Amino acid sequence: MTTYVQMFSEGGKDQKDLLGGKGANLAEMTRLGLPVPPGFTITTDACRWYMTHGAPPEELEAQVDAAMATVETGLGRRFGDPENPLLVAVRSGAKMSMPGMMETVLNVGLNDRTVEGLAAVSGSPRFAVDSYRRLLQMFGRTVLDIDAALFEHVLDEARAAKGVRSDTELDEADLRAVVARFQEIIREQTGHEFPQDPREQLRASIRAVFDSWNGPRAVVYRNTERIPHDLGTAVNICSMVFGNLDDRSASGVAFTRDPATGAPGVYGDFLVNAQGEDVVAGIRNTRSLPELQQLMPEVYDELMAIMARLERHYRDLCDIEFTVESGRLWMLQTRVGKRTAEAAFRIAATLVDEAVIDEDEALTRVTGAQLSRLMFPRFATGGDRELLARGMDASPGAAVGRIAFTSADVLELQRRGEDAILVRRETNPDDLDGMLAAVGILTSRGGRTSHAAVVARGLGRTAVCGVEEFEVDEAAGEIRRGGEVVARAGDVLSIDGSTGEVFRGSVPVEPSAVVRSLLGDGDGDTDADDPLVQAVHRMLEVADRRRHLRVRANADTPEDAARARALGAEGIGLVRTEHMFLGERRHLVEDLVLAADADERQRALSALLPLQREDFLGILRAMDGRHVTVRLLDPPLHEFLPDLTELSVKLARQEAEGVERDAHEQKMLQAVRALHEQNPMLGLRGVRLALTIPGLYGMQTRAILEAAAQLREQGLDPQVEIMIPLVSSVRELREITPEIRAVQEEVAQRTGQDLDTHIGTMIELPRAALRADEIAEEADFFSFGTNDLTQTTWGFSRDDVEAGFFFTYRDRGILLTSPFESIDQFGVGELVRIGAERGRSTRAELSLGVCGEHGGDPASIAFFHHVGLDYVSCSPFRVPVARLEAGRAALLEKEFELQH
Ligand code: PEP
Ligand code: MG
Repeated sequence: MTTYVQMFSEGGKDQKDLLGGKGANLAEMTRLGLPVPPGFTITTDACRWYMTHGAPPEELEAQVDAAMATVETGLGRRFGDPENPLLVAVRSGAKMSMPGMMETVLNVGLNDRTVEGLAAVSGSPRFAVDSYRRLLQMFGRTVLDIDAALFEHVLDEARAAKGVRSDTELDEADLRAVVARFQEIIREQTGHEFPQDPREQLRASIRAVFDSWNGPRAVVYRNTERIPHDLGTAVNICSMVFGNLDDRSASGVAFTRDPATGAPGVYGDFLVNAQGEDVVAGIRNTRSLPELQQLMPEVYDELMAIMARLERHYRDLCDIEFTVESGRLWMLQTRVGKRTAEAAFRIAATLVDEAVIDEDEALTRVTGAQLSRLMFPRFATGGDRELLARGMDASPGAAVGRIAFTSADVLELQRRGEDAILVRRETNPDDLDGMLAAVGILTSRGGRTSHAAVVARGLGRTAVCGVEEFEVDEAAGEIRRGGEVVARAGDVLSIDGSTGEVFRGSVPVEPSAVVRSLLGDGDGDTDADDPLVQAVHRMLEVADRRRHLRVRANADTPEDAARARALGAEGIGLVRTEHMFLGERRHLVEDLVLAADADERQRALSALLPLQREDFLGILRAMDGRHVTVRLLDPPLHEFLPDLTELSVKLARQEAEGVERDAHEQKMLQAVRALHEQNPMLGLRGVRLALTIPGLYGMQTRAILEAAAQLREQGLDPQVEIMIPLVSSVRELREITPEIRAVQEEVAQRTGQDLDTHIGTMIELPRAALRADEIAEEADFFSFGTNDLTQTTWGFSRDDVEAGFFFTYRDRGILLTSPFESIDQFGVGELVRIGAERGRSTRAELSLGVCGEHGGDPASIAFFHHVGLDYVSCSPFRVPVARLEAGRAALLEKEFELQH
């Protein structure tokens, strides 16, 4: 018989797959002897069974009964006992934390009789009735699927009738009336009475938690967080302790370090006489942890000791939920806490200083995605900017956007290509769509542990919470202060999640301190003292020591090359030469295309030569001493010529107007027509161009080598490589390399500089990957062009796919992310692996790199490490991210698994 139930006292923190994160950690705390209310966990196995069979496994009920009996014996209270009832919380808890995305039902076990027992034993009838009211409301909404607004409305009316603003001001009689009304709502909406049998309540609540795994919010969240849909959730049944029993009771959330900045020192919020849900919901404004020290010094000391112990035990930032019931502390949850990118780096570095972890482990605790967040721009200081208000710095970053009061409005702005700031009193899990699509989030209620703050940090969105001076009137589409309108829907706001400041209008942004210091052009002193900047440098140093992959940059100009070098690039993996043919040089390309014979063509090429040479001089100088891979011209020639339709219209108009038609333009029209292609991306590009326009690659080679020779004469050390694009067959290379080699020899002889330049090829077509063994006979190196390789492997047009059906594919789960963003490891990646293997079977020392966009993508970098490439090449600003990820890939290689 399968065991689907495990007591808290039986499990441990390494059982997250089976018990979910919350269950595993409750078990761990129980084992450590911390004060955890007794309870048990229903495993994810049971949920997976439920999902496949539509019903729980048969043995579950008896196992739950047995576990309940154990809890009852331990506590000396019975479930459903009218005298002294045991109540339980039924909480979801998946392997990965999904804050607020699934359901919870509290106070299960209350009914018309037990509520009186609770009133008697607690000595507080008001509390007992309020607890019953909460159960009816949660059960009604979650289990019975009744519109939450119906219940809220009753409470609104009760408050209005009494002329009070908060639920805490309703007395026992008021709440008894609310309870009666809630029971009516349940009867009206479902045709049944609220179940009085506690066992039935429990069964139904467990099912509701299972069902919530596939609720719309949870599904959206898993899609964005790339959490597999088949894991299922565990269900934790925990005996209730009450933070809302009296004024010696409280509920709170705390962190062992600041999860926003990573600064040392505990940090948290609590509410007296409240349940945990009230703290995270952001409905009442919370008090900060130091106040607890004054109110309940003994509880505070115990809590501090427990938090210190948890951090030592988990060797990381922990967050916890606690409840104080009449002066007694209970731990309801702990886990290794979510944190911002800034906090991740600072905490990793600090834990090394505190000798809790070593540098390698620290590196595994930060990610390239976090580093790229730290490289986002910040608001510029100075200048005139109107500070509108100040709230809590809930999730760092600088966001500028238009005010939207609902998710629908955020999405509408997004559709129009505008950035939105979602402004709400408080957020709840239904706002997830809007939070995802917004650049920033602002709430008027709630603290740094509110739903808005926690979710924003998880998603990497900028957030300012608890701007109390704002009255957010979502219905009127206004923000007011003291009754006066300060902003309306659609107005632009700038919010700083690192300071909590809210500005009117659009505040200019500037590079982050991290970027300034990486580029070495910041305010040296201030930046060097910044603990975040120090932590980033430190993690990058560790990564540089550990990584096997080298990191180059894609750069086409001397400025980009210099920037890439400052950011740590060890060379250039791709110089695209196409922009060198644009702008004022366009007419030279036109001459080349219109050349009637070899002489004219040669003249056109000769005119381009000195200009190209200048271009290469700048880049090679900026990257002196490091490899620079120059790719010869790739895109179809017609991209450099006038547009076919425009030119046709112009000439037709001239004809209609009886003007004499321009002979040059007429010739051009013929050429453009001749070169026109239906699928230019699959047409006359790359090496195909070189084979149709003799002398083109020769001219480029000459420009490159003459530039290199000139620099050599100046005592520099240019390390240039020449790369041929869009090759599918070794025969193409055999045809074109003699032209290149001939120029090479000639330049060497003329200048006396033997540059010994490597000539390699891009592998960016499936055929090239498959025939890599042959191709390696003619190529000194390979660089995988994963942009074209993705396009041609999937048959997706890279320029159109992300605007077209991609979203349909993502919504249907065919693709989780765009294959142009993160390498398709099983398809395109397989071709890279084959290409690498076959290439090296011919030439063991063959240098292998990648220069498609994937070279800067964290998941792809781990894959390229795994298949044994020598380097990745990415855009300059991704270079630090790639260095970090390459280091992580080396440390985490044993854990590598192919990912869809
Ligand atoms: C590629 O195809 O991956 C590549 C780097 O070349 P381009 O993007 O210029 O086609
Ligand atoms: Mg390409």
